[in-house]
Amino acid sequence: KSKDLKGYAPICLGLEDFYTRRLYLRIQDCFGRPIASAPDSRIDVVERFSTDNNKTLQRTINTTSCINLGSYNYLGFAAADEYCTPLVIESLKKYSPSTCSVRVDGGTTKLHAEAEELVARFVGKPAAITFGMGYVTNSAIIPVLMGKVSVFQSSFGKSQGGLIISDTLNHNSIVNGARASGATIRVFQHNSPSHLEEVLREQIAEGQPRTHRPWKKIIVVVEGIYSMEGELCNLPEIIAVCKKYKAYTYLDEAHSIGAIGKTGRGVCELLGVDTADVDIMMGTFTKSFGSCGGYIAASKEIIQYLKYTCPAHIYATSMSPPAVQQVISSIKVILGEDGSNRGAQKLTCIRENSNFFRSELKKMGFEVLGDNDSPVMPIMLYNPAKIPAFSRECLRQNVAIVTVAFPATPLLLARARICISASHTREDLIKSLEVISRVGDLVGIKYFPVENEKA
Ligand code: PMP
Repeated sequence: KSKDLKGYAPICLGLEDFYTRRLYLRIQDCFGRPIASAPDSRIDVVERFSTDNNKTLQRTINTTSCINLGSYNYLGFAAADEYCTPLVIESLKKYSPSTCSVRVDGGTTKLHAEAEELVARFVGKPAAITFGMGYVTNSAIIPVLMGKVSVFQSSFGKSQGGLIISDTLNHNSIVNGARASGATIRVFQHNSPSHLEEVLREQIAEGQPRTHRPWKKIIVVVEGIYSMEGELCNLPEIIAVCKKYKAYTYLDEAHSIGAIGKTGRGVCELLGVDTADVDIMMGTFTKSFGSCGGYIAASKEIIQYLKYTCPAHIYATSMSPPAVQQVISSIKVILGEDGSNRGAQKLTCIRENSNFFRSELKKMGFEVLGDNDSPVMPIMLYNPAKIPAFSRECLRQNVAIVTVAFPATPLLLARARICISASHTREDLIKSLEVISRVGDLVGIKYFPVENEKA
């Protein structure tokens, strides 16, 4: 009835409809626009498509160059690279964009075999398997690991007696995989080893042998860096609990592999965890490596089992060869096997850029989530109604920032999610900070006193 609500959702719509459909439509014009460039430190955002006077289909595209704080291009490989790009072009000419075949037929090129060996060596596991999509890696592998789906079994039928214990803030691809597995699912409070232990204790006794308990398999699923929180996993403590209760660990390193750790080997390297203590290491190639696809790295037996039984390996066309070549080349740069020290420089740069940006935002009075060294840094807006103004104003001042709200976050915990890259220059970062500070004042999201006022 209120005049203020005119044009907004009728009350009969559910909250989800309101925020995802109505509000989302209203913010489409902030970042939900086509991009006309590589997702590098700057991107060309399409301003508008305009038809000519005769209303023919001919379109003019106006683009604006913006500083890009929205892509997962952590090491800057998602742009022309002096080592990677020529090799990717060569692989495109040699192999074409597609293998046009599944892995078990003609879809395993020399590149696929090389990439799997290299990924295993890089992440510190005996073997690895790759998939065409990071999302599918989680959603297709978790059901297979739980024994629900394989080529030998019907995907219907009863649960196989597995238990998945998942962090409350795990990514949707994990949630989907867990649901599809038919296993019993329990969640534990975000990043809380003590609550994980409580949940485990409800199910089994400490030290109970795997053969003498009601669950055929228990898997604890966590992420290396939480994508909406920018927070590092409390991995050493979580592993200690898993060992105590003899539960398997599944670690999604989508945002951490390549981006953190002295040599880019992710959260295990940064927190001093032995990779032998993580049973399943999952990651994607879409972030630090600037490519497409995902991987699972584990023991030789598990990888062999997945190769024989996982429908997404057996029935899906394999990764595009140029994307595989990009994975190989970028990992070689990170390892210094391209003959330069650019990999080490990129790693130093992303750490310095991330720590500088995070501390400057905090000094300005923003509430910034996440840990030091993490290139993912959400700025809390809280009220989802602040999204359009924040996003549009930043874009108007040529800074492109992704904003996220329900259902990707809890309803009243809307945020702007900044992703820092090694390709950002100090100048890019300073200019962005000036813009974010001005827009922050305008929108009213500096929830803490600015640093010099505190003193
Ligand atoms: N896991 C996590 C934690 C993610 O954040 C994402 C997507 N950003 C995925 C898996 C899916 O990966 P992709 O986008 O490469 O399909």
